[in-house]
Amino acid sequence: MTELEQRRRAVQTALAGHKVDALLVSSLANVRYLTGYAGSNGLALVTPFETHFFTDPRYALEASQSITCKLHIAKGPLQEAVAGIVKRKKLKKIGFEPAWLNLEQHQKLKDLLPLGASLQPVPGVVENLRMTKSPEEIDQIRKSVRVNSEAYARTLRRVRLGMRERDIAAELDYQMRLHGAEKPAFDTIVAAGAHSALPHAHPTGQRLEENDLLLIDMGACLDGYMSDMTRMAFLGIPTKRVRTLYDAVLEAQMTAIEAVRPGVTAARVDGAAREVLKRHGLDRQFVHSTGHGLGLEIHEGPRIGKKDKTVLRAGMVITIEPGAYIDRLGGVRIEDTVLVTANGCEVLTPTTKEFVHL
Ligand code: ZN
Ligand code: ZN
Repeated sequence: MTELEQRRRAVQTALAGHKVDALLVSSLANVRYLTGYAGSNGLALVTPFETHFFTDPRYALEASQSITCKLHIAKGPLQEAVAGIVKRKKLKKIGFEPAWLNLEQHQKLKDLLPLGASLQPVPGVVENLRMTKSPEEIDQIRKSVRVNSEAYARTLRRVRLGMRERDIAAELDYQMRLHGAEKPAFDTIVAAGAHSALPHAHPTGQRLEENDLLLIDMGACLDGYMSDMTRMAFLGIPTKRVRTLYDAVLEAQMTAIEAVRPGVTAARVDGAAREVLKRHGLDRQFVHSTGHGLGLEIHEGPRIGKKDKTVLRAGMVITIEPGAYIDRLGGVRIEDTVLVTANGCEVLTPTTKEFVHL
C-alpha cells in the first residue's frame, strides 16, 4: 500500500467512529495530504471503500497522471459533482470539515444534496493524522529546513549598515528560491531596532543603524513542506541589557527543547519556557505561545501553548520559539524546528544560536 493509500485508509477507519458514511475534505492541505494534489481547486470525498477526488478541467492532465483514487473532472461547480456521487452511492450522513467549509458553501451543498442526505460537522480528522509525520515527510521537512538555513547564512554575509529591512527580506526570499524552495512559507519577517518588539513586524523601508537589534523570522516551503526559524543579530556591540535579554530568551528556548519528548503535554513544554522567562522577570513580555506544529502548513497542531493538552508523540514536528518584547528597546525571539523522537527530540535547524554581532 502506498503512503497516500495508507492515509486514506486511516480516514476510512475513522468514519464509523464519527457515525458518518463519508467525509468531504475541503481543506486544500488535507486534500493534498490524501491525494497528492497540489493545485488550488480540489475536493475529496472519502467513503468507507473508496476516495473520490474532484477538480476542474485546468488540472485534468496533471490529475490524470498523478491521482491514484477515483478522479472526477467537473465542468461546473465541484460541489455539484460531489452531490452527484452522494446520490449515486446512496450516501446518507456526510461529514464535513467545519473549519474549512464556509457558510455559503455549506448552504449550497445542503441544497444540492439528494433527499435524505444530511451534513454533519466532523472536525480535525485529517489534521489529527497530519500531526504525526511519516519518515518521508520528515525527510521533506529536513530539506526545507536546510534550504532555509542556507538562505539565511548567505544573506547574513551581505547584511550591512544602511540596508533597509525590505532589502534583507528580498535577499532572503531570493536565496531561498535559488536553493530550491518553491516560495517562502510565510511573509518573511525582518525587523530592526524598535521594530523587533513587534512579534509580527512587516519589513519596511527602515535602514539598519548602529546598535540595532535585528530579528529575522523566515521559513521555506519545499515540495509543500514548511520550515520555520528565527535568529537575532546585533549591529555593533550589544549593551549588557540587550545581552541579558538575549541570554534569558536563549535559556528559555533551550529549556523548552529539553522538555520535548514523547509523553509530555504541549502545555508542559510551553510552561518550561515560561518558567525561565518568569525567573528573569520577562514572563509578561512573552506575549505568544512557545511554538506550533508545522508540515504542509506553517501552523498545524499541536499548538505549544498554555492550554494545549496534546501529548507529544514521536514523529511530531514542532517549533520552539519563546520571545520577549520590550517597547522601544526591541524584542528577542529564537526559534528552531524540532522533531520529537522516540527518546526525546532532535533540533533540525542547523544554524548557530550564538548572538551574532555584525
Ligand atoms: Zn517563525
Ligand atoms: Zn513559528
